[in-house]
Amino acid sequence: MAFNRPKKKLMEDDEIIVLNNVSKSYQAGVQALSNINIHIKKGEFVFVVGDSGSGKSTFIKLLLRELVPTTGSIYILDYNLNKIKHRKVPKFRRNIGVVFQDFRLLKDRNVYENVAFAQRIIEVPSAQIRKNVPKVLATVGLAGKYKVKPGRLSGGEQQRVAIARALVNKPSIILADEPTGNLDPKNSMEIMKLLEEINEKGTTVIMVTHNKEIVNAMQKRVITLNKGVIISDVEKGGYNDEI
Ligand code: ADP
Ligand code: MG
Repeated sequence: MAFNRPKKKLMEDDEIIVLNNVSKSYQAGVQALSNINIHIKKGEFVFVVGDSGSGKSTFIKLLLRELVPTTGSIYILDYNLNKIKHRKVPKFRRNIGVVFQDFRLLKDRNVYENVAFAQRIIEVPSAQIRKNVPKVLATVGLAGKYKVKPGRLSGGEQQRVAIARALVNKPSIILADEPTGNLDPKNSMEIMKLLEEINEKGTTVIMVTHNKEIVNAMQKRVITLNKGVIISDVEKGGYNDEI
């Protein structure tokens, strides 16, 4: 036995997400991701693009620890997702805000309650919630709408509420799975501006998208998946036209 051997360094100090040889196959025998290696630095903005079925949502679910890799390992912040205990998963997820294509708001609750809910489930004291929610709603440009129900808002506004909800617990990472998929080009660009501002304040943003115009306009890191394999990973670029 070798004692006092230095632990192998799994991630650098400036990194927030590391995937090491990650593969995921589903029970039906579908290999959704194969041998994925990704290092993401704190504060990066990363697009993940690829055709339908290329493994993008599987990737997001692995980062959220909704799925575990078939082989390989995932490190996020100080967590080794392969080793994290079941009861610690909710606490781990507090570090990540999630935004979906279909908003997933509570239809019978107003804007304020939709955002406050994210704080109530982690037992933030009410007095603190009353301070935090208006602040985050102002950040997303919805200061005047807190009593309105989601059904009375435009798609772009509903997505802003979802972003406010994702942000209110001050996550280190925002994961967005096709957040502009249901929006027109104008609202899409506004949502992108908002995500860029959030990123500029220090939050790491990972966004899955099909939207070529957005990816070309933003000139960020672009990881392209094809049939579960990374076919390109460009530091600053546009949409990979090979897909
Ligand atoms: P994308 O989000 O890029 O469209 P997914 O990650 O959803 O891709 O899917 C990748 C592959 O895995 C596809 O072939 C899909 O059919 C398959 N898949 C996704 N979820 C499951 C599941 N729960 N069971 C079996 N196969 C799945
Ligand atoms: Mg998907």
